[in-house]
Amino acid sequence: MNDVQKFDNRLSIEKSVSGRQGLSFKRKLDEPNIDSKFLRKSEPKIPEMAEFDVVRHFTKLSKMNFSVDTHFYPLGSCTMKYNPKINEETASLEKFANLHPLSLEDSAQGTLEIIYDMKERLSKLCGMDDGTMWPVAGAHSELTGILISKKYFEIKKDLRDEIIVPDSAHGTNPATATMAGFKTVNINSGADGRIDLNVLKQHLNPKTAVLMLTIPNTLGIFETQIEEIVKMCHNNGTLVYMDGANMNALIGLVKPGDFGIDIMHLNFHKTFSTPHGGGGPGNGAILVKKHLSNYLPTPVVTKKDNKYILDENRPDSIGRIKAFITNTAVLLRAYTYVIMHGADDFKEIAENAIINANYVRSKLNDLYPSYANEYCMHECVLTPSKELLDKGIKTVDIGKRLLDYGFHAPTTYFPLIVHEALMIEPTETENKEMLDEFISAMIKIHDEGVSNPDILKNAPHTMPVKRLDEVRAARNPDIRWQK
Ligand SMILES: *Cc1c(COP(=O)(O)O)cnc(C)c1O
Repeated sequence: MNDVQKFDNRLSIEKSVSGRQGLSFKRKLDEPNIDSKFLRKSEPKIPEMAEFDVVRHFTKLSKMNFSVDTHFYPLGSCTMKYNPKINEETASLEKFANLHPLSLEDSAQGTLEIIYDMKERLSKLCGMDDGTMWPVAGAHSELTGILISKKYFEIKKDLRDEIIVPDSAHGTNPATATMAGFKTVNINSGADGRIDLNVLKQHLNPKTAVLMLTIPNTLGIFETQIEEIVKMCHNNGTLVYMDGANMNALIGLVKPGDFGIDIMHLNFHKTFSTPHGGGGPGNGAILVKKHLSNYLPTPVVTKKDNKYILDENRPDSIGRIKAFITNTAVLLRAYTYVIMHGADDFKEIAENAIINANYVRSKLNDLYPSYANEYCMHECVLTPSKELLDKGIKTVDIGKRLLDYGFHAPTTYFPLIVHEALMIEPTETENKEMLDEFISAMIKIHDEGVSNPDILKNAPHTMPVKRLDEVRAARNPDIRWQK
């Protein structure tokens, strides 16, 4: 197949042939009885194609894409793991899928029971006391969590306006603090990528409302001094917020509640399947300790005489955070995933995620030195070798060349504190053969970069489009590869 056939991305309208149709109605439709002034004067501009041509058109388009079901997708921080197909069955069960968002409690008991049960299960898994399933993204969860903290201090009449965010936190953390009206105080991590207790001590003061910690942090490492950190904060009256979007590394191994976390969030669309990279639908959860329960957003799902109710009567609540209650389709996928795995199974998920990341890291360490020279959690942050950097090779060149070898690129240039970062999260669902294929592609790419750097600098060579001006492509998209 030549490139033109392989990458034929003419629009369907460009393939249209007058008179061709998908379905043929034998009976002529009756002329509608509508005032002629409302009838269109010209034919609508829709493609005229046979059914088979439509199928082929869209199937070809879908094959030009990268997906978890077709390619290894090591996009760091996103947990692009396999999404068990049974999740899709549950999410499309008619009685859930067709429930109207304004249904009364009586006709939504099944959905409410799942929301309630999910909160109970996740609280138990994380060692927390209560929670809400309302936020529809990680960042939305953070905002909910920080508004809860704000309310907590307002009610205590202890007005604090600072949130400490280490430089190893996810970028959404400082954005959240700012959105919620706080002043963000950035602190630098120590040389090992962890919080430096002395630096933290210098910045904690009576104005510090919250410390926002990403665990594992964006370097893929665990805060080993977490108990000390929490104690220092609590002695200062400061709440500790844990960004648990990457709980895939910890689930079943540790309970954040046990090390004193006051409030945390989970990303259903990472830890509990539903891979979302590229901006798919999501759902989050906020879990809290008892002292923050009263501030959870309304409505709160409670259980009374075996009936689930949406309780709006919560005088100290931060109120609604979303028009309707949750993203049910993602919640149902995550719920299916959770009930399929017991606590022991979750432990195995986290362990295998960690083993896979360390396998990749140790096999590539000589050619792509890892930022933190120690075991990582579920993902590793690598950099190009000095040899590659000397040839002018950048991380983006490696990412683009990986596409030619049939791999989605890892996360690049994140975290910001690592120069030319390449953040690889293999996830636990990949087998050793696949990891070995990826590793050998990375080794080949290193060889190419040293012997013939132009191959990398001009990659990709086999994709429908070559190197794009990414800013222009985003702002001024031209979806045709040729006019
Ligand atoms: C993905 C991620 C987020 C943000 O989650 P969204 O659902 O994309 O808003 C926040 N923190 C960390 C550590 C993440 O990995």
